[in-house]
Amino acid sequence: MIEFKNVFKQYSDDIIASNDINIRIDQGEFVYVVGPSGAGKSTFIKMMYHEEQATSGEITVNNFQLQTMKPKEVPFLRRDLGIVFQDFKLLPRLTIFENIAYALEVIEKEPAEIKERVDYVLDLVDLADKSDKFPEELSGGEQQRIAIARAVANKPEVLIADEPTGNLDPETSDDIMAILEKVNKQGTTVIMATHNSIIVNKYPHRLLAIEDGRIARDEEGGKYGYEN
Ligand code: ADP
Ligand code: ADP
Repeated sequence: MIEFKNVFKQYSDDIIASNDINIRIDQGEFVYVVGPSGAGKSTFIKMMYHEEQATSGEITVNNFQLQTMKPKEVPFLRRDLGIVFQDFKLLPRLTIFENIAYALEVIEKEPAEIKERVDYVLDLVDLADKSDKFPEELSGGEQQRIAIARAVANKPEVLIADEPTGNLDPETSDDIMAILEKVNKQGTTVIMATHNSIIVNKYPHRLLAIEDGRIARDEEGGKYGYEN
């Protein structure tokens, strides 16, 4: 469960990126975050994994109270979160297998479990045959599928995706959506910031529209509603 209560984020005197955000997202939901550029989408999402901290208000993510959390607890918060970025952020000198395994090694999983998990998630994104390739040998869409596999390898409660289809063509974006919906059906909350109106309208889910740092719309199956 993710809850924001009266959350404000002020970067400077004249920049209020979150202006009294009140929102609750239950476990297992699929939520789009949309809105014009500069509206505060990234700030909203970054506060969930404590990359940015609220100026005031309360944020609860899973069982963590972020405003009173100690720095040493941040890695534990992030263990329950999978994060996917527009630019994939795969490590170029590691193979696909190693990229995913590395994420599990840093949280000290046993080698046998790592092998099992990596094989499972490569299968989930239908790229088991690319295990020994390097990222640059894969297409953009394939790299994003690997980034999602890596993000869900630790079975996170929440998968956060910031513009996951931002660099991808429509057909490839459909593949990414199929994977995100599959992950969601397994019980993982999916939160996806996007400018992709075609995707939002084609795969209806709860939609949060952020404008000027406020939640301007919160609709089940909402339409995109902006010029791209
Ligand atoms: P979006 O993701 O919707 O484009 P952001 O959350 O990135 O919006 O930005 C919201 C506002 O906060 C914008 O005015 C942006 O310029 C500002 N902003 C974002 N990050 C910072 C930062 N690190 N320092 C100062 N201002 C920032
Ligand atoms: P369970 O999750 O109860 O172990 P499943 O049938 O869902 O049972 O999973 C079978 C195997 O796949 C298990 O070994 C589990 O660790 C692994 N697995 C399931 N879901 C995921 C996931 N999202 N990410 C990584 N491994 C998974």
